[in-house]
Order: sequence, then C-alpha cells, then structure tokens
Amino acid sequence: MKSLWVFHVNTGACNGCDIEILDVLTPYYDIERLGVKLVPTPRHAHALLVTGPLTRQAYHAAKMAYEAMPPKPRIVIAVGTCACSGGIFHDSYALRREYRESLEYPLKGGTSEFLPVHLYIPGCPPRPEEILYGVALLKNIVEKKVRGELFREGTFVLPRESFNAWVEVLLRARIRKELGYFDGYSLLKRFMELVESSESKEELEKLVEKAINDEGDSRLRYGLEKLYSYYLEVVRTYEGILAAKRALVGLPK
Ligand code: SF4
Repeated sequence: MKSLWVFHVNTGACNGCDIEILDVLTPYYDIERLGVKLVPTPRHAHALLVTGPLTRQAYHAAKMAYEAMPPKPRIVIAVGTCACSGGIFHDSYALRREYRESLEYPLKGGTSEFLPVHLYIPGCPPRPEEILYGVALLKNIVEKKVRGELFREGTFVLPRESFNAWVEVLLRARIRKELGYFDGYSLLKRFMELVESSESKEELEKLVEKAINDEGDSRLRYGLEKLYSYYLEVVRTYEGILAAKRALVGLPK
C-alpha cells in the first residue's frame, strides 16, 4: 500500500496523544512523506486511528465511524497506552467493556474491546518517532527507510553515459579554441568514439596512440594529443571530487 488515509477518533483521550498526532503531521516529522494523510471522513479512510480509552460515551460514535469505512482494508491503529489497554483509566466506571470471565492485556478498556486492532503504538503519550516507526512497520518500509535501500555504494558514481556527455561538453570548448569549429568538432566526435569503445584507461591510451600514429594530418595529430591530455585532466578532476564526496559521507576511497 503506497498511501494510507487515516481517520482519527478520540474515544476519551486526555488529548496528550492527539497533540503527538498533530506533531507528526508538522513539517518537522512530516508523516505525509510516508504517504499518510489525515482525512475528514471515515468513508475515505483506509485506517482508523484511535486515541484514548474506550468510554461509554464514545463507543457508538467510534463504532459508526468504523462501520462507515470502506470494507477493505479497514485497518485499526491504537495510539497511546489508553487506546491499547485502557491505560491509567483501565478500572474507570466510565469505560465500556464486554463481560469476560478473565480480562487480559490488552483487553481492559482499550480499542480492542470492540475492534480488531492491527497496530498497537503504546506510550503515554507515544513519542512522534514511535508513531512514525509504528506506521513504517505497518507499511513494511522500515528496512527501506532505516537502511537506505535505494542507496548503494556501487551506484555512487555518475552513469557512464552521463559522465561521457559531461566530458564531451568540457572538451568541446577546448578543442574549438585549438582547431576551430569544423575540424575541432569532427575530431572530438572521433575521440569520443574511442572513449566509448574502451573499457579501461590503458585500452584508451593504446587506441589514442594508434589513432595518432595512423593520422596523416599533423594538425589533427596535435588535436588528438590535446584532447587526450584534456580528457585525463577532466577524469583526474572528477576522481578528486568523487574522493572528497566519499570522505564526506564516510565511505572508503
Ligand atoms: S495514553 Fe496518556 S496521553 Fe494518551 S490519552 Fe492516555 S493518558 Fe492521555
């Protein structure tokens, strides 16, 4: 599930949990980046977010909200110790509870008294980080967010095509000054073909050497030498930038 539309019901909370929910919506915690959106009606909600113990007064309203939700996925999230288990109000006369021979945690006046709860986020009140963590667990994105699934050391280089396009732009200005537009650009095209076809620096060196030896025009020989030395300069600069970036994020050189 990419997005999670949530309807919030307070079934008797002291407002501590509600304030924390507002907190995770602020730009600082920004729960919307996980695809979570608070909606004003249960008819549009995937999930019911319940705070507070289940009071007799709130029971019917909460039940109606639950029944108004679309039948699937109808997720219920209990936020705060009160919603999980009744919390400090667990033995209050004001709470609604079904008669049971033995009442066990968390069935002591919390949301699970009347709804199948999918996610418990305990705490009095839970910290915003705990709410974020709970939602990330529910959406199964904890690994991705914590370990940086999209980041791989191996991808910390410019793709070859982008790199070569960047080099070509830099070399174009230089060779234009040396040989002019016409000869300069056509020679650059030849040189970039050599770059594209080589797999390593050594291979490129051999290919350039051969191209210089085979070239009859001394101007173009000179241009190839210049292009090769500019190319090495650009690669050295790029490798220097890359090493500095790796050092900055603590990666080995
Ligand atoms: S868990 Fe704590 S903060 Fe939340 S409603 Fe209960 S008493 Fe208030």
